[in-house]
Amino acid sequence: MSTPRPIPDPTPHVPEDFHGGGIAGHPKGLSNLFFAELWERFSYYGMRALLMLFMIAPVASGGLGFAQPQAAAVYGNYVMSSYMLCILGGFIADNFIGARRAVLIGGFIITAGHYALAFDSVPTFYAGLILIAVGTGLLKPSISTLVGGLYRRGDSRRDAGFSLFYMGINIGAFAAPLVTGYLAQDEGFKQILVGWGLDPRHSWHWGFGAAGIGMTLGMWVYVRRLDWVRHVGDAPAADQKRPWERLALVTLGTVALLTLMMKSDEHAWLGYAIYALPVLAVLYFGVFRQDDDSKRIAAIGVFFIAAVLFWAVFEQAGTTLTLFADELTRTELLGQAFPSSWFQSVNALFVIALAPVFAWLWVALGTRQPSVAAKFVLGLVCLGLSFALMVPAAQGIVAGKVSPWWLIGVYFLQTLGEMCLSPVGLSTMSKLAPARLTGLVLGVWFMATALGNKLSGTLSAGFSSKDPVALANFFRDQAIVVGLMALVLLALVPWVRHLMGKDHH
Ligand code: GLN
Repeated sequence: MSTPRPIPDPTPHVPEDFHGGGIAGHPKGLSNLFFAELWERFSYYGMRALLMLFMIAPVASGGLGFAQPQAAAVYGNYVMSSYMLCILGGFIADNFIGARRAVLIGGFIITAGHYALAFDSVPTFYAGLILIAVGTGLLKPSISTLVGGLYRRGDSRRDAGFSLFYMGINIGAFAAPLVTGYLAQDEGFKQILVGWGLDPRHSWHWGFGAAGIGMTLGMWVYVRRLDWVRHVGDAPAADQKRPWERLALVTLGTVALLTLMMKSDEHAWLGYAIYALPVLAVLYFGVFRQDDDSKRIAAIGVFFIAAVLFWAVFEQAGTTLTLFADELTRTELLGQAFPSSWFQSVNALFVIALAPVFAWLWVALGTRQPSVAAKFVLGLVCLGLSFALMVPAAQGIVAGKVSPWWLIGVYFLQTLGEMCLSPVGLSTMSKLAPARLTGLVLGVWFMATALGNKLSGTLSAGFSSKDPVALANFFRDQAIVVGLMALVLLALVPWVRHLMGKDHH
């Protein structure tokens, strides 16, 4: 792809060839982190693909026999917790163990969690979920911190590097459900188990076990090439005082926020109050305080708000759009029938195809590329257009099931938006954060995903498969809100650039 630019100011303790020598002229360490995160996401999405189905499957077929609302609550709270614990994990990495070790410890905890799920009992089921959520909290922000650490401020390969890293994420996300789904659900595999003299009802646990093997491979890759990231993600110096009181505060704060969000299902005002907090924070830091750190925090706050809205609409892929695929779309392409769940892989496939294009584009544009805030505007515009495209699709159901090309078009637009916002967001957080706070700031970034996921569940309650007019309005209204947010952000671009100072690219 591109050749690395000459680096004007090498950090003395970093071997020069570590600035390049990896995938497409990127730092060597990127290859390590790319594959480690690929396998971590393989385990995450592979397990997530089974979770809901396993909980609602009757006990006689090896499931837990939960009622649908109970399963939905466990699922929603689990996904939200694993992203929200990133705040705590990021804080621990910054102040106690360093990002490199946080990935290692988090990875082992996740592995233990997947293997716990491979056993057939309710206590090991809950233990497994808790372990995976806690481990993900440690690993997810820290592995992104390490990627960010490979590039110096001003290195124009940074966004491109995150685009490639994002491609690794999606290779894992694409392949995993195919593998774990086969092991857990395929009749052929159940027959193989019978042939081995094993209980076919345990097939679910083979699926969970495969996720564990994926995570083990991830850790193996990481440990084997640890040398390539040895220069990033150090723990704070041993003589530095450890902030135990603040750790207690962050832990309490995270647990309180988690509890409040779980309660917001019954008390909607709680949710609104929590969503209003970042707006107040932006006003406080961006308008009333003028020091450099406050300006950066305000900029982070603006991106955070945009990201919550983005994920709230985007994550309906798993709810609203899956229902649309299942009930209202012809699941046949070029004469070939396919299961509706395959639509889940379309987004990951588009990311794999588009990530190299975006990586190339950002490098080719170099310093002429749009500012971060402008990329976020583009991300929201594409997302808004995707739901605008759902309006004629919804109107089309009057004449029966609609063509699968509608959803494929929708996912294409959403992926364009995702590529402008998500890897760019990761990259920007890693750059804007003061060095000692990188993990915490990345934790804040993933909290946008946690809140967005929760909101997407709330929004999807408005979906109705029976009434084409109501359905078209449902998508139209969300497209309008996203479009308005894009306009507001567009108006704020100069201010956000000012807040970010020289870091606006
Ligand atoms: N799909 C990406 C991942 O798993 C992005 C998740 C997110 O931040 N919403 O890392």
